Amino acid sequence: MSSVADQLQRVLEAVDLACTGAGRQGSEVRLMAVSKTQPAEVVAEAVAAGQVLFGENRVQELLQKKPLLPQRLHWHLIGPLQSNKVRKALTAADRLDAVHSLEILKDIERIAAELGREVPVLLEVNVAAESSKHGFASDQLEACFEQILGMRHLRVEGLMCIPPPVSRVEDARPYFARLRELRDRLEASLGISLPELSMGMSHDFTAAIAEGSTLVRVGSAIFGSRSSPSPT
Ligand SMILES: *Cc1c(COP(=O)(O)O)cnc(C)c1O
Repeated sequence: MSSVADQLQRVLEAVDLACTGAGRQGSEVRLMAVSKTQPAEVVAEAVAAGQVLFGENRVQELLQKKPLLPQRLHWHLIGPLQSNKVRKALTAADRLDAVHSLEILKDIERIAAELGREVPVLLEVNVAAESSKHGFASDQLEACFEQILGMRHLRVEGLMCIPPPVSRVEDARPYFARLRELRDRLEASLGISLPELSMGMSHDFTAAIAEGSTLVRVGSAIFGSRSSPSPT
């Protein structure tokens, strides 16, 4: 079995190659190592190989892991957030990358105001309108922004999606394109900037990069398959 350092290197090369293929600069796409279910010792191997940005799904797991690793790392929460976890999430995570409803945004705004902080977030969009999935509906997001723009303690830095499973990587492209087009429309009609597009995982990041991803979230291609399933 190859080491985390080797696999990380391989993923970085594949990201670079995908950028070249898409006529983009390698510096336009960041790699987040998704470390959910991985023990701190394993995460430390990625840190030793130079990785700084990590993604975790659950607040509790992040709170347990973070103190065991260097302070200089950046941690983003990529799993769905519940109201009763918002306060802890704000102390643990550098950014909340999967905020999926107006209700949660209101909770974040209220607590951020209390703490006197500005909180960076990404909004999760349910790009294929799947009933099983979290996220804002594509056609309702613009209307939601009326309220979101009034939340003075939030900084919406972009959008995020998890497309439905497809059999061929190329089949994921239309979903990624949808998120980019939605972002472009929102920027144009609202006059705001939403630079971050968090899209692409181990099996489909090349397609996501071809469609404009700025942040790929890669777990198993770096750390190997997860021993226990983690809720997404
Ligand atoms: C687990 C997870 C990932 C990483 O998935 P891999 O297939 O292991 O690369 C990315 N994004 C989210 C939201 C996840 O929950």
